[in-house]
Amino acid sequence: MRVTFYGVRGSCPAPGPNTAQHGGNTSCVTARLDDDTLLIFDAGTGIRNLGKELIEEGYKRPLHLLLSHVHWDHIIGLPFFDPIWEADTRLLIHPLTNNRQERFRWRPTIFDEIHFPVPAADIPCKVELADHPRSQWDLGSATILRIQLNHPGGAQGFRIEDRNGSVFCFITDNELRPPGRVTTSVERLAQFVEGADVLVHDAQFLEGDMPHRHGWGHSLVDDVLRFGEIAKPKKLVLFHHDPDRTDELPGAWPRPPGGHGPRGSHARPGIGVSWPLVWEGGALCARLCGTQRGMGATTPVFQGE
Ligand SMILES: [Zn+2]
Ligand SMILES: [Zn+2]
Repeated sequence: MRVTFYGVRGSCPAPGPNTAQHGGNTSCVTARLDDDTLLIFDAGTGIRNLGKELIEEGYKRPLHLLLSHVHWDHIIGLPFFDPIWEADTRLLIHPLTNNRQERFRWRPTIFDEIHFPVPAADIPCKVELADHPRSQWDLGSATILRIQLNHPGGAQGFRIEDRNGSVFCFITDNELRPPGRVTTSVERLAQFVEGADVLVHDAQFLEGDMPHRHGWGHSLVDDVLRFGEIAKPKKLVLFHHDPDRTDELPGAWPRPPGGHGPRGSHARPGIGVSWPLVWEGGALCARLCGTQRGMGATTPVFQGE
C-alpha cells in the first residue's frame, strides 16, 4: 500500500503564500493497494491535482471513492476531477455514513445546475453506487472497515487492511470530546484503529479556538496527540488543518509524538507513506515545524471523561 496526500486543509480552501508549506487544498487522500487498486478518500479541492496525475499516468482501472461525509470541503473538488469527464472512466462511490447523507451520494447538490452548470446526468463517466450494507467489505487486495464519527450530520472513518499486512486508518471530521451525545467514544475508536501503521486524524483546532468552536465536529491538536498515546499507531498524521493556521503562526504546528519523522507528522500535499513504513515528509516537517512550540502529549487522559 502507498498513501498519498493531495488535500489536507479543513473547512475551506486556504491558498496563498502563508499556507503554501502545509497546503491549501481541502481533504483528499489516496491509498494505492498492493494489487494497484486505487482508493480515493474524499473529493475536496485536492482531488483536482489527483485527477491530472491519473490522466497523465493513463490509469484506467475503476476509481473507488470513499467519502467521509458530504460537507462542502469533502466534495467541492468533484466537478474538477478530470477523470469524470472521460467516458471510459468507471467511478464507484461507496456508501455514506447514514440515510440522510445517502441521498447525496451521487447527484449531490453540486450537480443540480444551480451550483454547477452541468447536471449529473450529463457527466460522461460511468458512475456506480457500490452497495455495502455491512460495516466491512473486501475491495481489491484489502478489507475495508468503517466507523461512525462524532460530527454534526454524521461522518465516517475508514480502516484499510491490505493483504501484505499494512494497516491505514483515515479518521477525519471527528471531535474526540464532543459536547452532548457521543457517537463513538475514545475507547471504541482506539479499538477500531488498534494496530494501525498509519493513523490520519482530524486535528483542526488549537486551544485558542475554544470554546466557541466546541461542537463543530473537529478535534483539538492536543487531544489528538493524547489519542495517539492511547491508540499507539506506528505513525500519527495530523490532518484537516484549520484554514487560519498559517505556516508561521507561532505554536500552530506542535510536534507530533516522538518528534518529526518516524512516528508522526503533519499532513501536507504531495508527500506520502509507503510500506515498509517510509514517511517522505519527515525531514521537511522537522525543518518547518521543529523550532516551534512543542506540545507533545504528557498523559493519555481525557479530561471530563
Ligand atoms: Zn471537513
Ligand atoms: Zn465536516
